[in-house]
Amino acid sequence: MRCNDVQNQMSAYVTHELAPEAARLVQQHIHTCAKCHAWYEEVTEMLHIWNEAEHSSSSYDLVAEVMTKLAVAYPDAPSITETKKRRLVNSQLYHYGLVACLTIIMFQFGVFEKLGYEISSVNNHFASTLELLFQSTAK
Ligand SMILES: [Zn+2]
Repeated sequence: MRCNDVQNQMSAYVTHELAPEAARLVQQHIHTCAKCHAWYEEVTEMLHIWNEAEHSSSSYDLVAEVMTKLAVAYPDAPSITETKKRRLVNSQLYHYGLVACLTIIMFQFGVFEKLGYEISSVNNHFASTLELLFQSTAK
């Protein structure tokens, strides 16, 4: 199984929608390929965050939640100090970009179809927050 095939089926794999044989091949590949293993962990993490969002109120702060999760997932990430500020901004931009890409990918695969209208308000909030971030860092 090639990396492309694995990554295309990743969403279905983490939501247990793959046939047993296909799931076994994906699992096998994840265990032997560092790149796809990293991808798998990101997708799993995002799915977890979105599942939590589903059960929370409309005032849910997705961005704060994502950043907290990322801080846990990346303990080596720079801390908030003046000297490392620039690096942190770059790191945040990278993660926002990554989250945005994964969100688009997951929507494309219909992972969140069941969330219906609830998700659109979260997504709008996220999109506007992203916009603000890029505006503030572009100066
Ligand atoms: Zn791979």
